[in-house]
Amino acid sequence: MRLLIIGTGNAFSARRFGCSAIIQGPTGQIMIDCPDSYPMALRQAQEKSGWKIDQLAITDVIVTHLHGDHCNGLESLGFLRWLHHRETGASLPKLHLWKPVADRLWERLAPAMDQSGAAKLSDYFEIHFLNQERESLIGGMKVSCRGTQHPIPTSALKFKADGKVIAWSSDTPFDPSLIDWLAKDADLIIHETSPPPTHTPVELLNSLAPKIRLKMRLMHMNDEFDPASTTIPCLQEGEVISI
Ligand SMILES: [Zn+2]
Repeated sequence: MRLLIIGTGNAFSARRFGCSAIIQGPTGQIMIDCPDSYPMALRQAQEKSGWKIDQLAITDVIVTHLHGDHCNGLESLGFLRWLHHRETGASLPKLHLWKPVADRLWERLAPAMDQSGAAKLSDYFEIHFLNQERESLIGGMKVSCRGTQHPIPTSALKFKADGKVIAWSSDTPFDPSLIDWLAKDADLIIHETSPPPTHTPVELLNSLAPKIRLKMRLMHMNDEFDPASTTIPCLQEGEVISI
């Protein structure tokens, strides 16, 4: 698996894009979360990394929750791919969400996308539910999800392929049981940090066992975050990680 970091900021950041990444799996290119200004974020990550990303070639999108800094780009992505689908017959992107997240998605998108009642969610995306009870096969990777204690339904994720595992906390307060779930078998743990109570302060991540911290990288930083406050490396936009 290869991972391109697209955005690393929190909801209020003026210096970073919202948290997002592209994973190249064995059979697909998967975008994790779809924040504001994602086309510009993709372009800048592409320029920094040399990894060419074509918005029309993204096969799958996983949305962890419906806070805008994780999903505001869905309107743009949906319209772009709907127009491309109409012009060329190309496949719509698959959109994967935990069912409690999916249940309110159209409620959020419809005022901008229902074309006065003529269009529905399935005109833009092929919807698939993530299930806590079983793995989903996405882009050739086995993907599992687990709800976090964020104030709205939010799913953490694990990606497995080629005997390797990438874990993604999404937004969460500090939760040792979630960290146990993320760390089990993981080669890389991408964990959020931002001020509590709905997010995880870095001081609590600093107290974790060294074997967990060594596998951990941080995202979802606010602009005041001091990288010197921790030995856990902060992810950089445009960074490529091969696992
Ligand atoms: Zn959130």
